[in-house]
Amino acid sequence: MAQKDGHAHPAVFLDRDGVINVDKGYVHKVSDFEWIEGAREAIKYANDARVLVIVVTNQSGVARGYYSEEDVRKLHRWINRQLADIGARIDAFYYCPYHPEAIIPQYRRISDMRKPGPGMILKALAEWKIDKERSFLIGDSDRDIVAAERAGIRSQLFGGGDLRALMAKHIGTVLAEPLAATPQGRESP
Ligand SMILES: [Mg+2]
Repeated sequence: MAQKDGHAHPAVFLDRDGVINVDKGYVHKVSDFEWIEGAREAIKYANDARVLVIVVTNQSGVARGYYSEEDVRKLHRWINRQLADIGARIDAFYYCPYHPEAIIPQYRRISDMRKPGPGMILKALAEWKIDKERSFLIGDSDRDIVAAERAGIRSQLFGGGDLRALMAKHIGTVLAEPLAATPQGRESP
């Protein structure tokens, strides 16, 4: 596992709907889940390159009463079981169940966690040992890109096509960059 050797690793932050699976609107059941072409292979590519794979996904369907947080977590566990079949994994899932106009009162709030807020990315940066300067986000909407910008990481808009190729290109770029001398999370010289 990437975290066990004590070094900070780059991370790729992935939006879920529209990047990992086809965005059919409020996907929460396995039967509605359809992998994006190359998504599993892209995740495996990152795993093999020792780049952390972290999903950051708005799930306002919870706030709207369409499904529960447990439904979200259940689907995420299923996704990782599917990935395990090819020896891949998502290291962490962060989801935001809140929405300002929620039907369910406990989820009715303006939250920095909801993209374009940077909250989920910042939380992950705080909870994992991540080489922030060499991390990036792939998302399919402006909200994702703005969230990355606000969190201070670079980003790539995904508009379809082979996600594995896109992943390989960005990982190639970040891994070719020299480690800076002393930024946060890295070892002192
Ligand atoms: Mg999306």
